[in-house]
Amino acid sequence: MSTRPRRPDLPEPWPTGISGGALHVPARPMWRCKRCGEESPCSTQRQELLLGYQGMRASLSIHLGMMFIDCMGDLYTCLPAGGAPTPGELYERWFGLLAELKTDGPPPMWKPQADPDEW
Ligand SMILES: [Zn+2]
Repeated sequence: MSTRPRRPDLPEPWPTGISGGALHVPARPMWRCKRCGEESPCSTQRQELLLGYQGMRASLSIHLGMMFIDCMGDLYTCLPAGGAPTPGELYERWFGLLAELKTDGPPPMWKPQADPDEW
């Protein structure tokens, strides 16, 4: 994981708005939620990702792509042959979230620029 400071204009990788700060994050290498035990992304993670990335399909796609690659690498390394989900199942597990993303409206951190006439 990177130790570089996060850009303040980008959402947290795992927004915590719905769970109130409770950590519904993946536990590697099995990719189950640390809090509820569901497969990651769990239902709370999914809701938080949709909320955090609202209006930012490209950013969510990149995030999901990184999670997909890490998840596939871990599961295919740790589970016996035939015990891991198929690549198609993993693809749907991660990228299926994109179908639920609302693309209308600005990102949550978007704020209107000040009226230049008021400067
Ligand atoms: Zn969870």
